[in-house]
Amino acid sequence: MHRGISYYDSRFADHAFADIDRIKEAGCTYVVHTFSEQDMMFNKENVADIIAYTKEKGMEAHVDPWGVAGIFGGETFSYFVTRNHHCLQVKSDGSKAQLACINHPDLVDFMYRWIDEATGIGADIIFWDEPHFYLPGWFNVKEPMDVWGCRCDICQDLYRKMFDEPMPQKETDEVQKFKLHSLIEFLRKMFFYSARKGLKNTTCMLPFELMRDSGSWEKVASLPDLYGFGTDPYWTSVKKLRVKFDLDEYMRPFCKEVKRLADIYNLRSHIWIQNFSIPQGEEDIITQAIDIALSEGIEDICAWTYFGAKGMASLRSDRPQVVWDTLRKSYLKR
Ligand SMILES: [Zn+2]
Repeated sequence: MHRGISYYDSRFADHAFADIDRIKEAGCTYVVHTFSEQDMMFNKENVADIIAYTKEKGMEAHVDPWGVAGIFGGETFSYFVTRNHHCLQVKSDGSKAQLACINHPDLVDFMYRWIDEATGIGADIIFWDEPHFYLPGWFNVKEPMDVWGCRCDICQDLYRKMFDEPMPQKETDEVQKFKLHSLIEFLRKMFFYSARKGLKNTTCMLPFELMRDSGSWEKVASLPDLYGFGTDPYWTSVKKLRVKFDLDEYMRPFCKEVKRLADIYNLRSHIWIQNFSIPQGEEDIITQAIDIALSEGIEDICAWTYFGAKGMASLRSDRPQVVWDTLRKSYLKR
């Protein structure tokens, strides 16, 4: 079992190295380092030093295109999006969305440059984190939930070529098929390019039950040049929404499907464990979640994020120290 943690807290070596020491001491075998557009522009050498230190400590360095172009997970903003309005996704109501279109060639070129930079800072593995089309409510922003993307000119052209008819206004089954096809082709290009750079690829699909059960995940898992596959069934927001919440009932089907696909396509399986926004008194759920994943044969466990997200107010757990101690205890036991 590999044990991971994501890290974005400091770009000041003295502080970051102390954090990396603490991560090592907690039994981690790898660190998922975020490498945002801000890092790419302003902190490249700092992140390279932190990655070098991670490896010196005997841990693997995964690098995450955190929030890059708005198309991956990440509590950060995209400069690419502000500078390249011609690349933005277009929503079904005709307005522009705050993320780039994965079908736009300029975005694809930008991602190749990102991979070049990630290679340069010492990545062992690229972690493709929650790649997605426009999702209403991202960053908890209030917006109409029945609006979808993308209907940009490029997507409309590609759709017409695929189905020989204009792209509808409604998100029909065909539109969903088109979006999945676009996502697959985008990831195929990314995996291929980074593999040629000598890097491995892992990806985490958003924990949408419909996507999981529709065979969409399998199409991603079957892509060439993929090394690891997983998902991140974080529970606190789901727990709030459901009248009766059962962690096992919620998490186990995600773990089962990840493991099933990993076995078929010879991938390393991983499950993300929530280590942010954990309410006081609910820290033990972390251990239960790890136990569920391991009981399904999941090989790698990774937690988002370092020290109960103490370093980010919007994600901070009520008791970050208790969250960290709980994870550490569970990691060291394995
Ligand atoms: Zn588009």
